[in-house]
Amino acid sequence: MAVRPVIELGNPLLREVARDLTADEISSPWLRELVTDMIETMHAEDGIGLAAPQIAELVQVAVIEFDVDSERYPDMGGLPLTVFINPRITVLDETEQEFWEGCLSVPNLRGLVPRPRAVRVEFMDLLGEPMRVEADGFLATVMQHELDHLQGVLFVDRMRDMTKLSTIEQYMQHWADDEDDEDAVPALD
Ligand code: ZN
Repeated sequence: MAVRPVIELGNPLLREVARDLTADEISSPWLRELVTDMIETMHAEDGIGLAAPQIAELVQVAVIEFDVDSERYPDMGGLPLTVFINPRITVLDETEQEFWEGCLSVPNLRGLVPRPRAVRVEFMDLLGEPMRVEADGFLATVMQHELDHLQGVLFVDRMRDMTKLSTIEQYMQHWADDEDDEDAVPALD
């Protein structure tokens, strides 16, 4: 068990498509150890999600833990700690929504990203059981951000208006609702 280094923009591994896990791998101690490392790394970095490629493991695994009572994101729904193995995403509502996103693999930047407003994710849990989660609003954006990592896609690729790509300092100065509120800075993973 360990906090693992998060790789950053420019590392070619972030641009690879991660491979599915086999049933044998899903039940292996190796996967439990990987997931434990991902959760510890997510907590250490204060993220609300992490995808395996961000710690240089090119497999279809992501974790999300989004506190319902988060002061940082009030009224945005939540998701208890969930491990997504071999996830498949379906758009339920193509209506666009925009949220400011940040990424542990794209340090010190924030960007306004348009995405579909509702999605369904079907996946396996750590027991190999099929699961599904439906989400809308900010949680739908979080899920799309994490699952994009498994396809080698980063939030900057989804941006259309690059004038909204900002350093955190400039984001706070020009775009945040409350420039004195450090917790207003969104950071997904
Ligand atoms: Zn990210």
